[in-house]
Amino acid sequence: METLNTRAAAVASDILTSQESNQAVVLSGAVTASRSQRGWLFGIGTLGILLASVLISPWTATQEAPAPIDPTDYAARTKHVLSTTPLIDGHNDLPYLIRNELKHQIYNDKFTFNTGLLSNTDRQKVRDGMLGGQFWSCYIHCPKDSETKEDVPLDEPTWTLRDTLEQIDITKRFVNEFSDIFQFCSNSTCAREAFANGKVGSFIGIEGAHQIGNSLASLRQLYDLGARYITTTHNCDNVFGTAASTVTAGREDKGLTPFGEEYVAEMNRLGMMLDLSHVSHETMRDVLRLSEAPVIFSHTGAYALSKVLRFAPDDVLKATAEKGGIIMITFVNRFLRPDNPDAATIHDVVDHIWHVAQLVGWDYVGVGSDFDGTPVTPLGLEDVSKYPRLVELLMERGATDEQLRKFAGENILRVWAEVEKVAERIQAEGRKPNEAYWEGRTWVRSDMNAPIMFRDSLGKRVPSYLGNP
Ligand SMILES: [Zn+2]
Repeated sequence: METLNTRAAAVASDILTSQESNQAVVLSGAVTASRSQRGWLFGIGTLGILLASVLISPWTATQEAPAPIDPTDYAARTKHVLSTTPLIDGHNDLPYLIRNELKHQIYNDKFTFNTGLLSNTDRQKVRDGMLGGQFWSCYIHCPKDSETKEDVPLDEPTWTLRDTLEQIDITKRFVNEFSDIFQFCSNSTCAREAFANGKVGSFIGIEGAHQIGNSLASLRQLYDLGARYITTTHNCDNVFGTAASTVTAGREDKGLTPFGEEYVAEMNRLGMMLDLSHVSHETMRDVLRLSEAPVIFSHTGAYALSKVLRFAPDDVLKATAEKGGIIMITFVNRFLRPDNPDAATIHDVVDHIWHVAQLVGWDYVGVGSDFDGTPVTPLGLEDVSKYPRLVELLMERGATDEQLRKFAGENILRVWAEVEKVAERIQAEGRKPNEAYWEGRTWVRSDMNAPIMFRDSLGKRVPSYLGNP
């Protein structure tokens, strides 16, 4: 509650400061006009200033100007930035950990979120880390990883979709159970409001389009349940495109499939963010070419620094920026330092962030930890409580407060709002929900006695559907 009040007051003070400075600009404009124009304007201008000072004075009298922060006091600067801008992480796997460790049971004394967990995320860590918003990953693994070098079964069993629904359910129940610190949101406006309320905005991301059961209808239903991004592939090809892990295993990078093109269009129409973490480089390029909306990398890194195929090469980073998207940097040791994962530190993460910022600018970079989704994390970034340290190190390297506000949360909020705008536009144009289906699909049907729906050209009644069940 203390943090809540402090943060709300800080937000209010920021708003007031900007209102004051706007008024100052307006007033100085009036004065300029009075000098160059007629004398009576000067009189009105002066009267305006007097009136405005009377109106503003009760505020200025009670609202003391905050003491300037020493630019080298990185801890104080970070505290100020993160209490006035939400730090939004693109990827945290706590729901999967709850699934694996607790079979989704949280109303018991085993799930000690309040008093502390050995893993990366708990109440104290969330508060110490000044977390302002989180995309909780509703991840379910691939039926078979493509790293096995065998063909991945594409017409997968429906447990993947069932288990994804369970992941969404546990995420919502978790957020609800700790609603004194979390607030569920499914749009960017709510994400800002949650932060202003002193809550950690909580959003749903799905980590692999294999989780939608190869079905655009399922995709729409997951949107309706509140999911707001889908990673185009995880570590397996799916009916939409090629995964990076497939290429790592020596197989061909085929990029997006024709059905994947329908998928991209439907994601744009819905307002669901396309996440390119885990996909192959050709899939990245295909999606960037086709998408009408900005795309995200919810947890990735720069391929120029770490030669792992799931990281984005420079041309992709540039194309992502040109599209107005975002590259959120991950904390996974084995990707950051493929040569020596044990040596990975917070400085490697700073290097990746810095590379993206130098290459394409601070408008297109963010943070996507993968906390609770990886067994080891870099030295200095052990858990959710460490975000402030990361921001401090970026300051030490020369980033400004404004750049770090973008990095922390403004960029992802801008991307999210833009994706919402594109969807609004497409829907206003009247584009219908996409009825395309994957041609490899098995249509399970019963042999019930159904009436005939159609006649052929000779007037004979024919079955409407001729596929093999
Ligand atoms: Zn991942």
